[in-house]
Amino acid sequence: MFVISHAAHGYLASAALHNRIGNNDYKLFLWLCIFFSVFPDIDGVFSTTVAGHHSILHTPIFWIVLCGLIYVISRIFNPAKSHLITLGIFLGATLHIITDWITARTVGIQWLYPFSGQNFYVYSIYPEQGQIPVFEMITDPYWSFYMENKVLFGFEIGLNFLALIFLIKNSNLLKMKGSL
Ligand SMILES: [Zn+2]
Repeated sequence: MFVISHAAHGYLASAALHNRIGNNDYKLFLWLCIFFSVFPDIDGVFSTTVAGHHSILHTPIFWIVLCGLIYVISRIFNPAKSHLITLGIFLGATLHIITDWITARTVGIQWLYPFSGQNFYVYSIYPEQGQIPVFEMITDPYWSFYMENKVLFGFEIGLNFLALIFLIKNSNLLKMKGSL
């Protein structure tokens, strides 16, 4: 899945929880959720190929352990927001891994790493198509290959449209509140 789509699901997830989080803490939760929805793909910067870019940042057990540590540390330094901080980070990173698993084209998700290196994916993957630098993902032949799976491509486009609609709707609501 592309970085922009990860930002979109981060936004949608936080917008869906807006009422439960409350206005005071929403901004912090929103930015944590969006940032950590995107963050695992930082490993693409250090990888020579698209198919090789899934590092430990794309493994759920790493995030479970890390979020456990973050929770303990935030309980000490900021107990009032420890739940919120941990949830924002965990939700963003977990959504990233789940959506990468669903939309995997060239590399899957190692759900059980470090206990097993087995790659999991929903549709068949084609690692040979991912032997290109990450920045060539938006050019052919990778782009055409990426669009071949219409269900997954449609899902990703739909996600971005949905985020855009909610973004416009919510910014209009904010403007209306501001004019009251
Ligand atoms: Zn990813």
